[in-house]
Formats: sequence, C-alpha cells, structure tokens
Amino acid sequence: MSITLYNTATRRKDPFAPIDPKNVRMYLCGPTVYDRAHLGNARPVLVFDVLYRLLRQTYGADHVTYVRNFTDVDDKINATALARKEAGAPGTLEELVRERSDETIGWYHADMDALGALRPTYEPRATAYIAQMIDMIAGLIEGGYAYENDGHVLFRVRTYTDYGKLSGRSVDDMIAGARVEVAPYKEDPMDFVLWKPSDDELPGWQSPWGRGRPGWHIECSAMAYELLGDRFDIHGGGNDLQFPHHENEIAQSRCAGHGFANVWMHNEMLQVEGKKMSKSLGNFFTVRDLLEDGVPGEVIRFVMLSTHYRKPMDWTEKKRAEAEATLRKWRALTADVELDPAQEYATTALSDDLNISDVIMRMHSLAAQGEVRALKATGNMIGLLTDEIGGWDTSPAVDLAVFEQALADAREAAMQSKDFSKVDSIKLALVDAGIEVRMTKAGVNLLAGPDFDPAKLEAIDV
Ligand code: AMP
Ligand code: ZN
Repeated sequence: MSITLYNTATRRKDPFAPIDPKNVRMYLCGPTVYDRAHLGNARPVLVFDVLYRLLRQTYGADHVTYVRNFTDVDDKINATALARKEAGAPGTLEELVRERSDETIGWYHADMDALGALRPTYEPRATAYIAQMIDMIAGLIEGGYAYENDGHVLFRVRTYTDYGKLSGRSVDDMIAGARVEVAPYKEDPMDFVLWKPSDDELPGWQSPWGRGRPGWHIECSAMAYELLGDRFDIHGGGNDLQFPHHENEIAQSRCAGHGFANVWMHNEMLQVEGKKMSKSLGNFFTVRDLLEDGVPGEVIRFVMLSTHYRKPMDWTEKKRAEAEATLRKWRALTADVELDPAQEYATTALSDDLNISDVIMRMHSLAAQGEVRALKATGNMIGLLTDEIGGWDTSPAVDLAVFEQALADAREAAMQSKDFSKVDSIKLALVDAGIEVRMTKAGVNLLAGPDFDPAKLEAIDV
C-alpha cells in the first residue's frame, strides 16, 4: 500500500517514503498549556491522529514514533501563577507555574481522550529539555548563526538563505510589510529570539547568557532532535504555524547541522458558523464546553473529520445534529458485530492524502447496503465506532418500538386481507418524519435518519 501526502514544502502530493520503515517518525506542534483547548486546537490533534493510525496500520504499531510537545514556558502561564501567588496561594512561583501547566495538561488529556485521539509515543514538556535548547543555541552562536545582545540571543535570519521558502515569503517583503518586531537588541528586524532574560518574578534557568528562558521556536527544534534524531519523516501543525514558527524551526535546525523534517503537513483552520472563532464574536468555545453541553466526543470527532484537512472547516449546529443522528444509526447497526481484523477497508482512500471524507461517504453506502462488518471496520480505521469512544447513549430519543410493532401488525393483517394501504400509509408517514424503514422477513426495523423530525413522528396515528 503506497501512501501519498501533500507536502507544503514541495506544494504537491508526493509518494511517502519513510527514512526507516522500521521507525517512521512524526512531530506535531502541541499546545501551549495555559488554558483549556478550544475546538480549533482539536483539529490538528484529530487529523494527525488519523495519520498516526494509518502509519501504524501500514508499517506496524511498533514502527511509528509520534511526538507531540507541550509548551510549558509561556507568559500566560506565568501570569496565572503570579496572580495565584498574589492571592496567597502557597508555594514558590516555579511551583505555581508547574501546578498551572500540570492542571492544563490533565484537562488536555481528558479532552483529547474523549475525542478518541490516541496518546502520542512521547509528549515532551519544553521545561524538561532546557539543557538541549541551551546546547543548540550555543552551537548556533559558535557557527555565526546567532548572537548575544543584552541577555538576549537572536537568530541571524540573513544567514539562512532558504528562509521563507516553506511559506512562500521573501525576507524583504516581510520587512516591507512590517510584520516583524523592531527591537534595540536586534541587528536586523527579521532576527528572532532564541533566548531571553528572566527577571526575578519569572521562571528562569541559568545559561551562558545569564538567567533566562527559551523562545518558543527553539523548543520544537531541540525536542524533535532529541526524540526523533537528525532527520525525520513528517512535521505537522496548523496553517497558522507555517510562518513564523515553522520557518524559524527549519532555519535553526538546518543551521545547527540537522536534516530536520522531510514532509511538512498543515491543517487549515476551523471556523464556527462561517466566522472566525473569537471571544469578541461570542462564538468561542472549548472542547470541554461541548462535552459538558452533552455533545458526545464521537460526534465532535465525526464532524471534525468530515472536512478534508486542507480545507477550512466550519463547525455548525446543523452538522452536529446530522452527525449525531448518523452515529446513532451506525452504532445501532454495528452493536453486536464481530470485527474481522484481516480486512483493511479504508486504507486506499486514507492513503491518498487522508481522504477521510471519502471514507465517510463509503461508510454511508456500507450502512445502506447493510454491510455492517465492513461499516464497523471502516469506521475503526478513522477512530469511529470503536469501544474506546463508545459508551454514550445512542438510543433514539423517541421510542421507535411502538411504531415497529404497529407496522408489523399492519403487515400481518395485510397478508390476510391483501390490502396493503395501511402498511403503505404508515410507511410513508415514517419516511416523511425522517425514519428509515427496513422490512424483512425477520421483522420491521426503524432507524432515525439525519432528517429525523420527532414532532412529525408523534403526529402519526397508528
Ligand atoms: P496553540 O496552542 O495556539 O499554539 O495551538 C495549538 C495547535 O492548534 C496548533 O497546531 C495550531 O495551528 C492549532 N490551531 C489553533 N487554532 C486553530 C483553529 N482555529 N483551527 C485549526 N487549528 C488551530
Ligand atoms: Zn513547533
């Protein structure tokens, strides 16, 4: 089975050839752990979870290493810790910072587990890799790629001639567009921070440049090198990270003498009801908000995966309702189904740059054909219809058994009288209410479809 993946660096779909098929290596930029994950943060997690599943299926579960970091050096984490200290919380500032990132990581795990995302092989915290970051920075200074000024260490962007290639920008355009911060300690406005000084109110580590803390970009370069080695296969993240974060990661790692990533993959952004999710528009919500509103994790996962990862995705209430109705139906169909582990149903579509929407379309037709084993196996490939993400109340909100009985009785009577008009009229009314009617010799089976309308159902007189 050959996999093709769209590579942002080459701007086309390329056949995927791992460096070492016995150890396929992937890095995804993880969250900054200052607060609950919002719904947009779940998109890269779910997209790369499907890729992780596909790679495990293709190369073997023990032959894939997946790293997703936690950024636990951050001004917002510090601000919360400081506020708690000022409010009289016990412990040092360092301890309170740690407490805040620990609690956020706990939430993150609970939320992403609820969406059925597999835990990566490694989830390094930036604060555990400060020594490696200091080493890398020292090497960059030695090579002339970075310089110290006033307790800051800056990366000299002009020394890396390919800077801007990934995101398709030129350094001069960026400066003309004034998208860069000018600061007195910079030789050039494009230069970015590798290390910055910490005052006594902030967490800091001893370094050759005084007490300070790393910049965000160097964290990923150092952790990826430490855990995945000189060169690895796939690096992922949201589109918003292409510039400057990923450009900076590439510049640092390449100038430090590392091969870094072969394939760059970026998911498009998530919107809500056609608008950018933002606190000011009042359409901002976290994964936990949805779960607490009673939206099952499996439904969130299904909606999020229904749009191809390279297209903007729109979260809507309509999609949520449809996904819920579909999953109720599929769960009912596959409830007692034994899996056939030898079958690989969804690999072809997934191997084509994660064509998950194609997989979902196939699931709809398998459900319509009553191919329930294939339906379950196909769902499992993308982490749906699994035991892990099941357990929510999938029974229809209304009792369909009454109508099933009425229809069965009507059919029995019609067999005698040869007058099927009552059977037909009940059937018609049910279909009109969005119910899927299946009549076999074994009996009558009703399922609420995506257009199910409970009010219409109640109005049916049987
Ligand atoms: P952050 O914690 O903001 O660095 O983001 C963590 C991950 O979530 C990154 O890969 C971002 O690209 C991604 N992300 C943030 N906002 C969105 C969004 N609205 N849609 C999709 N991905 C997002
Ligand atoms: Zn990163």
